[in-house]
Amino acid sequence: MQLYNTLGQTKQEFIPHEGNRVNMYTCGPTVYHYAHIGNLRTYIMEDVLEKYLRYSGYDVKRVMNITDVGHLSSDADTGEDKMLAGAKRENKSVLEIAKFYTNAFFDDCKKLNIKTPDVVEPATGCIDEFIEMVSTLLEKGYAYEAGGNVYFDTSKLNSYYVFGNQNEDDLAVGVRDSVEEDSNKRNKCDFVLWFTKSKFEDQELKWDSPWGLGYPGWHIECSAISIKNCGEYLDIHCGGVDNAFPHHTNEIAQSEAYLGHKWCNYWFHVLHLNDARGKMSKSKGGFLTVSLLEDKGYDPIVYRMFCLQSHYRKPLTFSFESLDNASVAYNKLTSRIASLAPQGEPDLQSAQPYLDSFKAAMDNDLNTSLALTEVYNVLKADITDATKVYLIEKFDYVLGLDLLNPKKKEQKSDDALTKEIEDLIEKRTLARQNKDWATADSIRDRLKEMHVVVKDTPNGIEWHIEN
Ligand code: AMP
Ligand code: ZN
Repeated sequence: MQLYNTLGQTKQEFIPHEGNRVNMYTCGPTVYHYAHIGNLRTYIMEDVLEKYLRYSGYDVKRVMNITDVGHLSSDADTGEDKMLAGAKRENKSVLEIAKFYTNAFFDDCKKLNIKTPDVVEPATGCIDEFIEMVSTLLEKGYAYEAGGNVYFDTSKLNSYYVFGNQNEDDLAVGVRDSVEEDSNKRNKCDFVLWFTKSKFEDQELKWDSPWGLGYPGWHIECSAISIKNCGEYLDIHCGGVDNAFPHHTNEIAQSEAYLGHKWCNYWFHVLHLNDARGKMSKSKGGFLTVSLLEDKGYDPIVYRMFCLQSHYRKPLTFSFESLDNASVAYNKLTSRIASLAPQGEPDLQSAQPYLDSFKAAMDNDLNTSLALTEVYNVLKADITDATKVYLIEKFDYVLGLDLLNPKKKEQKSDDALTKEIEDLIEKRTLARQNKDWATADSIRDRLKEMHVVVKDTPNGIEWHIEN
């Protein structure tokens, strides 16, 4: 399998560190608000990667943290703790906020068929591991104490910008950092491992440590939780592209300094979901959530389909118009699949070329849109329905689109759709009887948009949705 690796910036053959086993780590959500559909694009594509690795026969262990402390409003260690800001906003405790939004995150994941990782660790449950790692970094001379905080000393590294692709915006994080003048830092890119002194003295959660009462920096969480659960050698580390710098760069710096060897071989980054205002982000507000899509009548799986139609390494622009197109495509596809009448056993020989094409698409850096095309090719193919169902079931293990059993909820929305169409047809008939041509025409156009074909027959009006 060829996978694009941010480390080296090329597509590379994926080879796990040890045999068949794949250790995979995912940066989890910062649970101070609902996940937006941009965050969920990243989790959907990571889910596809995990499932495709399993489909390919790997034994995957996937670990994810929950950031419930330490993520400040700037990724460069400055500003208020996001969790604390969330708690203040809702007049609740940090732990209440964390519990609520962690549950909300997994509810969203369930609706999008995102599998829960094998291990999920809230950062607040791993304080001892963070302290141990920071202590070792101090002992090894990679860290220093200043002004009550412990910092990682980036000048001790041969190479800090390991991804080598920092653009000016990324570097500006460092510049902004020095503009905010944390005079404790010896070098512009040094980052906090442990805080005891923050500008926000009302930090709610603090723990005893050799450096005083305080709390961990955000970056140390992921390194420590990954090493605790996946050991010293990580195969794949995933996240949204905004995490590459400084978060993942700092993770690599501290993990490799701590371990004394290379840590993670493949870095998988998903490009952003944008809207008309640019990158969708929690801090900007006005973001879209899964519940909002549901309130508007969309099945969340349609959003998953929308994501799979594009490559994960291309920015994706969201609009309701494109979601509508994905919805129409999804409904057509599932109704075509529902009309199959499988009988007997699949013919494995005639299935093989389609399995090969699916594999070729996915092996090429997870080309999900081409893999989806393979579902259409199967439907068009001159093979038995039993073979078609066999293939679609296999592909859907990876795609996760419920292609063979669209949700019951959808049945309900089908009923609602039927009612909407019948109401429109009745209104149109009435308008025509009243010679209200303008209304009749606009209803005809609306029905056309919905792909409804209406026919006058001796038994009255009949309609169907065009495939
Ligand atoms: P957070 O909850 O802010 O820690 O982010 C959770 C995940 O979502 C991280 O992997 C981020 O890199 C990713 N992410 C944040 N914004 C976007 C976006 N607009 N599009 C795709 N992924 C994003
Ligand atoms: Zn992380």
